[in-house]
Amino acid sequence: MTQNRATTRLGLDISHFNDRLDRWSPGDILAWAWETFKPKAIASSSFQTQSVPLLHIIAQVCPEMPVIFIDTGFHFLETLAFRDELQARYGLNIVVVRPAVRKSQLLERYGGGLYRRDPDLCCYINKVEPMQRMLVGMSAWVSGVRRDQTTHRSSLRVLELQPTGLLKIHPMLNWTKQEVWEYIERHRLPYHPLYPAGYLSVGCAPCTRPISTSEEERAGRWAGTEKTECGLHTEWGNLEFLNSVNVEE
Ligand code: SF4
Repeated sequence: MTQNRATTRLGLDISHFNDRLDRWSPGDILAWAWETFKPKAIASSSFQTQSVPLLHIIAQVCPEMPVIFIDTGFHFLETLAFRDELQARYGLNIVVVRPAVRKSQLLERYGGGLYRRDPDLCCYINKVEPMQRMLVGMSAWVSGVRRDQTTHRSSLRVLELQPTGLLKIHPMLNWTKQEVWEYIERHRLPYHPLYPAGYLSVGCAPCTRPISTSEEERAGRWAGTEKTECGLHTEWGNLEFLNSVNVEE
């Protein structure tokens, strides 16, 4: 039913159009997305090394598109510095959003170490909720996820319709890790300052560790737990999940 509604609003068949988009470059997908949905389209980024190709292409194709950075309060200082460096270098339209529950309130309500005891709740409060707020009234959300990153992501399509009617757009979906690195080298793009120390995938400091060369790209995220996703790309629009987390007013 939701698929049919989206087909009517966009005037295209999502499934059929996905087959075409699989053959488009990230730049062409981004140009189409901005032209089709502006100003109701935003991108999001965690500003790590592998994010840079998408940000670089946004800067070429649609520099006006807002790029959301969720400041959880738990980032490495190096990530904040890298974000500022990329903004200065490429003129990105970065919008910083913070959780409704501030870090001091979080500590007061739940004590320290919530990320260890209940990382799903911690991610909901610090990532999912602020992103949900930014997406109110939006038609499209661009993110840099790739099929080769996790099991969940391997089954995604370039266009993913959410239960709310929001269209998620994944311009980098079909790129491999190798293509990302070739692009970085070809365009001499900057690396996250922690990359040389083994941080291939960087999230919040308490939930990220460096990895060895034999490990998967995201093995350092929530290491030692079953968790592989923060919820931004799995639970958004999952009303059962959103209702199940108990966030005090
Ligand atoms: S990544 Fe860790 S610290 Fe950051 S929001 Fe999720 S659980 Fe909390």
